[in-house]
Amino acid sequence: MAQASDDVLAPLRHHVSDPSYQFDVGTGWRQLVLECHQAVVAEFPEYEILAVKQKWAVLSFQARPRTRRRGGNWTDTEDERLQTLIDAFADRSKAICERCGAHGSLRESRRIDLVLCDQCEPLVPEHGRL
Ligand SMILES: [Zn+2]
Repeated sequence: MAQASDDVLAPLRHHVSDPSYQFDVGTGWRQLVLECHQAVVAEFPEYEILAVKQKWAVLSFQARPRTRRRGGNWTDTEDERLQTLIDAFADRSKAICERCGAHGSLRESRRIDLVLCDQCEPLVPEHGRL
């Protein structure tokens, strides 16, 4: 299972500088993460991923327009454009079950907040690990 879901994110691997880095999102968000990558790579072919994870129940896709070089090698406009692209996917993640990808909503009863659908809600324990 884990391996199959990792494959969905294989295209992102070229954009991570640390080869041991593991994308830290539930299976339900992997398609969304892939679409975010596709939107970003279309405009920033050499963009760099710093982290892909869930933070405060929202997708946190942290990236730079390209690998940083001394002295800076992107403009504020590029950085803002990249952030705008990413923010749209963070917004979408607020309504997608991180466990299965169905329509979900914010659940605040656990140690960590999660977006889950009604079916996954009873299946995720109090520690919140999917
Ligand atoms: Zn679900």
